[in-house]
Amino acid sequence: MNANLNWNPDKIYDYLIIGSGMGGSAVVSALAESGSSILMVERGDFIRQEKENWSVPELALNRRYAAEEKWLDSRGNEFTPRMYYNVGGNSKFFGGSAFRLREKDFDSQWPLDYSEMAPWYKKAEEILGVRGKQGEDPTEPSDQSYPLPPIPHEQAVRDLSRKLTKQGLHPFHLPIAVDQGPEGRCRKGSPCDGFPCMVRAKGDAENRMLRPLLLKESSPLTFLTNTRALRLLAGPDNTITGAVLFRNGKEYIQKARRVILSAGAVNSAALLLNSADTDMPEGLANSSGYVGRCYMAHTNTVLLALSLFRKNPTVFQKTLAVNDFYNQGWGNIQLRGKVKKEMLQNKKQLAFRLFPDFIAQRSMDLWLMSEDSPNPENRVTFENGRIRINLNPTENRGHEKLIRAARKMMRKAGYPLLFTDRRGIEAVQHQCGTLRMGGNSDNSVLNKWCRSWDHPNLYVVDASFFPASAAVNPALTIAAMGLRVGTYLKNLPHKGDLC
Ligand SMILES: Cc1cc2nc3c(=O)[nH]c(=O)nc-3n(C[C@H](O)[C@H](O)[C@H](O)COP(=O)(O)OP(=O)(O)OC[C@H]3O[C@@H](n4cnc5c(N)ncnc54)[C@H](O)[C@@H]3O)c2cc1C
Repeated sequence: MNANLNWNPDKIYDYLIIGSGMGGSAVVSALAESGSSILMVERGDFIRQEKENWSVPELALNRRYAAEEKWLDSRGNEFTPRMYYNVGGNSKFFGGSAFRLREKDFDSQWPLDYSEMAPWYKKAEEILGVRGKQGEDPTEPSDQSYPLPPIPHEQAVRDLSRKLTKQGLHPFHLPIAVDQGPEGRCRKGSPCDGFPCMVRAKGDAENRMLRPLLLKESSPLTFLTNTRALRLLAGPDNTITGAVLFRNGKEYIQKARRVILSAGAVNSAALLLNSADTDMPEGLANSSGYVGRCYMAHTNTVLLALSLFRKNPTVFQKTLAVNDFYNQGWGNIQLRGKVKKEMLQNKKQLAFRLFPDFIAQRSMDLWLMSEDSPNPENRVTFENGRIRINLNPTENRGHEKLIRAARKMMRKAGYPLLFTDRRGIEAVQHQCGTLRMGGNSDNSVLNKWCRSWDHPNLYVVDASFFPASAAVNPALTIAAMGLRVGTYLKNLPHKGDLC
């Protein structure tokens, strides 16, 4: 595989891309044919294909592959964020849910509307291999179609779907980027959600966008793993001249004509704050003061629904969702990967710790997700080399209503025993919003092309750009935006943004 053999630290690359997650891989896949020289740096390594990829004890108890660092909360207490640093970013572990934001989600906070994103959603769905069924979800965008048929429900999920329909709800096949089907690669070897795929059946950023480029005989991409960007560097005319990279114990100054930040919503904000210099003491790209602000990650609850007398033998559970409460502003309900006993053993709920096996064998497992508001006081800061997430706990009434509706729905469907597990600050999976895009440079960091208002050659394509989080999973929107911005840059006259 073409990786880092032809790196020349003295060269000025046309593009320096920082981070190889969903946003970074999408932008590079669009830029690949541009004839530009591209250097992508990734702080983590490749995830090896090994039997441990699918080991529940290894991942749930030993935290194999997980980021080891600790962040601080607003009180200065340490917590372990649930995230990963590796090639492909968090998408290596994602559950594959691949929703477009709804048309009405593109409200006045967004500097663009759904119709501008629609072609890029379609392209992202094709590249990631999204499976779904058009016409079932009452909230789906009017032009929604899927490149591949849905993943069929297993028996217990089929029964649940029938019972929900009887209640007047509209359960639908979850749109999902997993290569499952008669010809598919998927072997159902793990709960999938939260696990890397040993047989590369998951439509993650590495499998679908980065790897095909690296496998090319003459790849346009120079790719450095285990290389961390520490700071960006600004020139006297506000252009970004490059970045300080840390690799094999050494620092390098890497120059580039355009810099694309895609280190994830928290790390990209931290990187810009850590790049403060005498001219910009509040950090780069921060004339609005919004760098790091408006952190969002959805309000999330796991609901385990049990019938005492019925086991749930489902292997691949993430095939059904319900959006009947979406338009009320309550959020989305979807099945999550099948919960296993090891995932319950360390939970604070006594019942989980006492009866993990009994519960895991019987539970139907749901993920309840509501929109969280872009509050400027919820912010990422970077102090003394440490990331801090300042979150002001506020009541999310819509989420409370969603929990009540989901409990009622499952009780009526024959699951009388219900356990909820509200996720806290450590649930950073859907982190977004910290470098928000907008139509006005006073209250946003990026314009509608994800370009910094302050620095004409700096772009950001990870989940930082979201001005509002909506209430569906973010990855497809990140991929679509990366493709959109990459194509825009490819077609921009050389140095067009620098004029
Ligand atoms: C368990 C789990 C399940 C999920 N399930 C779903 C789902 O079903 N559907 C969905 O839509 N979303 C899901 N998500 C969320 C989804 O994976 C993320 O929203 C998405 O991958 C974020 O993409 P990104 O490009 O913003 O950032 P990331 O994926 O975080 O990529 C950032 C990359 O930058 C690298 N990096 C960070 N700092 C630096 C630095 N200083 N220098 C160099 N490199 C750096 C990181 O190592 C990483 O590879 C899930 C996430 C998790 C963890």
